[in-house]
Amino acid sequence: MLQYLKQKQKQLLEMRSDFYTARGTHVYFKDDLNNEDIDAERVVAKLESVIPDHLLSELEMIIIGWFDEFEERNINAFYKDGILHVSNVQDNEEDMFDDFVHEVAHSIEIPYSYEIYGDQEIRDEFLRKRKLLHDKLWALDYKAPLKWFMETEYDEEFDKFLFEKVGKDKLRMICMGLFINAYAAVSLREYFATGFTDFYLYSNHNFFKKVSPQLYKKITLLNEIKNLDSDL
Ligand SMILES: [Zn+2]
Repeated sequence: MLQYLKQKQKQLLEMRSDFYTARGTHVYFKDDLNNEDIDAERVVAKLESVIPDHLLSELEMIIIGWFDEFEERNINAFYKDGILHVSNVQDNEEDMFDDFVHEVAHSIEIPYSYEIYGDQEIRDEFLRKRKLLHDKLWALDYKAPLKWFMETEYDEEFDKFLFEKVGKDKLRMICMGLFINAYAAVSLREYFATGFTDFYLYSNHNFFKKVSPQLYKKITLLNEIKNLDSDL
């Protein structure tokens, strides 16, 4: 029994200990993972093997733990100043991987802003979809001003309208075939990040390509850019 306990403690200690990845990303555990079945090292290794190196250029550190921002903003991960903050409460490794990839998308928005947003293609595609979303909702008697839908920035009031007034389930139904998921409708930045995530999470891109062709094209391009500093 004592032997077992000691072993368990050792395992837990090992689970908690910080580590550095092959490309030098520091992974730090602020809090223990809620799920013993999750091997964070394996998830980070997957992240670094799936996403090309030039798109991980901003990522310096990953902190796994619980942050006030999660509650305040009803999120479970965020990126800030080279650091990816991810919740220690995860359903499984896929769930955690999803969070990692999503935040890597946000990490490249500034260094790659010209490549991502410069030609306005994904902005135009996003706004065309927003207009259709407005029309669909209007027809279902969820009447909100079109002006709201024609903004690309995140707006808390609009978010509440979508996810509380219309509601998650209904919104998901309405967004089917229009956005890859309901969260993609929240803002232009989330439109980009959800597409980026879908691209690296699933090997079959048919659905994504069909729903958001411009965004798909953009991410394919980003995936292939060899060097950030090549005569921008
Ligand atoms: Zn996001």
